Amino acid sequence: MSLTTSQPTGDKQLGTGPDAPSGPSAAPTGLAPAPADVGATPVGMGQVLHKVRTPGEIERPAVVEFKHVGKTYNAGGANAYTAIKDVTFVVEDLKDKGEFVCVLGPSGCGKSTILRLIAGLEPQHPATRGEVLVLGNPVERPGPDRGMVFQDYTSFDHRTVLDNVTFGLECLGVPRHERYELGRQWIEHVGLNVAKDQSKYPHELSGGMRQRVAIARTLALRPRIILMDEPFGALDPNTRMNMQDLLVGLWREVEATVFFVTHSIEEAVFLGDRVYVLSNAPGTMLKELKVEPADRPSHEMQKEPRFQETVCYIRDLIGQLEESQRADAGP
Ligand code: ADP
Repeated sequence: MSLTTSQPTGDKQLGTGPDAPSGPSAAPTGLAPAPADVGATPVGMGQVLHKVRTPGEIERPAVVEFKHVGKTYNAGGANAYTAIKDVTFVVEDLKDKGEFVCVLGPSGCGKSTILRLIAGLEPQHPATRGEVLVLGNPVERPGPDRGMVFQDYTSFDHRTVLDNVTFGLECLGVPRHERYELGRQWIEHVGLNVAKDQSKYPHELSGGMRQRVAIARTLALRPRIILMDEPFGALDPNTRMNMQDLLVGLWREVEATVFFVTHSIEEAVFLGDRVYVLSNAPGTMLKELKVEPADRPSHEMQKEPRFQETVCYIRDLIGQLEESQRADAGP
């Protein structure tokens, strides 16, 4: 890795050096980027990079690159609306391991727009300005190298769990016996029970179980990039933590790069290797944090003061953004 902007990442070096802040109150809260010659700032379990990584700073080809990307909906029309502007970042292709990238920011700042531009989904795709590259090539349409999991339970009501999990494989023409065998493996992988669950229909499943089905359907296709748009947003807190732990385990196994949009700062800090924080609309990349990997269950990590310190730092940052958004909107 040729990242020049961050400090060493060993656990012992994070948040324990002489310059490390001693609590949430010590976390820097200014919105201006630090000068380029200052190293990453430790904040609990995270390191705030002094600038967002950009193309040219890592080994190529990158998994995803955004070069000065802008998106204006209804461009040229009376109701034109610019959702993101000049978004530039790069996610490198790590050997035998993908990065887990979480995207945070105030509501409406363009998080889903960014995710869907990577997916190549209309009307977000195509970008109005700039370039969106996946594995070195401009995105032209959706493709099997990118799988998406949405917040809404996207299973087909009239299909059983097994037929939902194997839907993508069926579309690819995988023979029935082969796809069912693979589908049953994935049903077990995501913590469902083949004997009990494979013949159930979505209305017979809890929200958590339905998201397990959606994840299995996406991962069965072994995409290189997994795009997740608030997939756990509708789940109760305990189910959500269980799903986070499940996802970390699955992600290590499939070695894919994950882009994960969430409103939950705790979820982002737990899951993310990287956390991107977007500015107010029109969204642009404001901060990039490198975060320690999730090596313990979610409920354990979330109790740790260093974890909370990172969460508080980001909460302050987003709080300031939302405050300035309200001020701009006026009374
Ligand atoms: P976020 O995911 O951060 O909440 P989105 O990417 O969903 O934000 O949306 C960013 C902004 O773009 C919002 O103000 C939203 O209303 C607007 N927007 C999203 N999709 C469309 C669309 N198809 N047409 C017009 N405006 C849109």
